[in-house]
Amino acid sequence: MGSLSRACGAAARKERNVKDIFGMTLAELQEVLAPYRVQKFRAKQIAEWMYQRGAKDFAAMTNLSKSLREELAKQLNIGRPRIKDRLDSKDERTTKFLLEYADGTAVETVLMRQPYGNSICVSTQAGCNMGCAFCASTLHGMARDLTKGEILAQAVTINDMLHEEENGAKVDTMVIMGSGEPLMNYENVIAFLRLIHEDYTLGMGYRNITLSTSGIVPHMYKLAEEGMPISLSVSLHAPNQELRSQIMPINRKYPLADVIAAAKHYADTTKRRVTYEYILIDQLNDGEQQARELSALLKGQLASVNLIPINPVVERNLLRPSKARIDWFEKYLADHHVNVTVRREMGTDIQAACGQLRNKHLQD
Ligand code: SF4
Repeated sequence: MGSLSRACGAAARKERNVKDIFGMTLAELQEVLAPYRVQKFRAKQIAEWMYQRGAKDFAAMTNLSKSLREELAKQLNIGRPRIKDRLDSKDERTTKFLLEYADGTAVETVLMRQPYGNSICVSTQAGCNMGCAFCASTLHGMARDLTKGEILAQAVTINDMLHEEENGAKVDTMVIMGSGEPLMNYENVIAFLRLIHEDYTLGMGYRNITLSTSGIVPHMYKLAEEGMPISLSVSLHAPNQELRSQIMPINRKYPLADVIAAAKHYADTTKRRVTYEYILIDQLNDGEQQARELSALLKGQLASVNLIPINPVVERNLLRPSKARIDWFEKYLADHHVNVTVRREMGTDIQAACGQLRNKHLQD
């Protein structure tokens, strides 16, 4: 089905007043199902069918009576995105999906088969408004926020795929680092985090989740109070106010010093180590001066730095430093007592950099 007919189908369902139940919490589901005399334990079974057992419609829910399944199917819908594109890397460790929701909006989701388990990277907005210079997701701006159900659908889609294709394997860990600034879609993202933690969905432990932000300071403080011990990752990319503003426009609104203070507060409150992501860009932020400033900035913090050699974005003409330069930068930080790692490259042959597949889809 093409985007247009899917969008028409969605409009027709809306007109018939068909309610989409995918993404509902158990309590929401129980409320919606109450008029159909569905008992609470049955509502939980329906949740498990949707979120754990790959059911895409009521017909698949064989432990419900046929008449109930038919009645529910007339009034309710399980709105899952369709897989519009799928790319597997040559080394088979990375799989990237382009998922399309009922209104034709498409987002990217990535599965990375790591030595410690299956990790996924989810998107929280379709596109992004933040304007980071190195990022392909922001080239077309932001189309819209995703709902908690739409974000959950990314994880469920991959979980189902693993279950079917890889002997019952499942999603183990998650990074919220796909397109979008998660803290600009705060309510939906928090609701999604609570939902994916539930035992009737993926039951994911908060400690297996990392949220990455470009530094939305007020919401970083708010997140520290949510009682969810997820890991926080801050996109730093430059060690001083001037250079960071050049690379990340949001830094003019929330200055570097305030972002560092908010991250420190998060680490102190949650006792979770904060990771600073630092994309290494040739001749821009990979010099001795930046290495010196960066180690001074993070001195004495419960923090580590993840160096990410840039995945060149053709449209922006930003280049990757040489291997020797990357090694030198890493060694400088380590020698100055900063916990530092260099991100392993995964999926460069399938355009794993955030936003590139979606942009191709928009251009097509
Ligand atoms: S890096 Fe993240 S915050 Fe910055 S433009 Fe890309 S998606 Fe948005």
